[in-house]
Amino acid sequence: MRLRNVPGARDVMDANEYVYTEPEGMAGTWSQIFGNNNPVHIEIGMGKGRFITTLASMNPDINYVGIEKYSSVLLRAVEKQDELCLPNLRFIRMDAENITSVFGKEEVDRIYLNFSDPWPKDRHAKRRLTSRQFFARYDEILKSTGRVEFKTDNRPLFDFSVEEVNEAGWKLSVCTYDLHNDEKLVEGNVMTEYEERFSSQGNPICKLVAIR
Ligand code: SAM
Repeated sequence: MRLRNVPGARDVMDANEYVYTEPEGMAGTWSQIFGNNNPVHIEIGMGKGRFITTLASMNPDINYVGIEKYSSVLLRAVEKQDELCLPNLRFIRMDAENITSVFGKEEVDRIYLNFSDPWPKDRHAKRRLTSRQFFARYDEILKSTGRVEFKTDNRPLFDFSVEEVNEAGWKLSVCTYDLHNDEKLVEGNVMTEYEERFSSQGNPICKLVAIR
């Protein structure tokens, strides 16, 4: 993603009640934060946040946590949440590499990855959010019945991800190379900003769901 630095975005994040900018050590505290024991769904690399904000407003009995590395990108989602004040939505500004210090064992019910950065060079493969290294992290924080849902229009990244699911010892419960033309799977699909942009350019959208 091309990043436009927004002056002051960091300060806004540090002061906002819905954002955690120093989340290390929060593992095990999410039911306290939300004040209930509802399931916790997270989106890693949420960008401007339309997907997670839409889900949070549709599903008040699910708690949502959006994770994004950059304040300037997160800003849009935070401004929207300042208007909506959804009680079941929070954000974390962090690099997801440290996700196991932020969520405890089996504290998460679902992980969404949407149009994740491809990191095309082989030597950067372990930075991809669908690498076996990331699946090992997800294995720690995700309930045994939980799942990882991944969408992208990037075919090489998708093919890599399918292989990594197997390498990590997980299974595919869904795998489509054209989500928008799959009558059943597309039902209830919430589009992300990137999904809207790339599908309008004619790119097919791939989706997988990984379980253990
Ligand atoms: N998910 C959004 C969508 O589909 O419209 C945004 C997609 S954008 C290509 C990928 C986003 O993931 C960027 O905003 C980037 O900053 C964020 N990101 C990439 N790696 C990350 C990481 N390790 N931890 C947190 N966020 C990350």
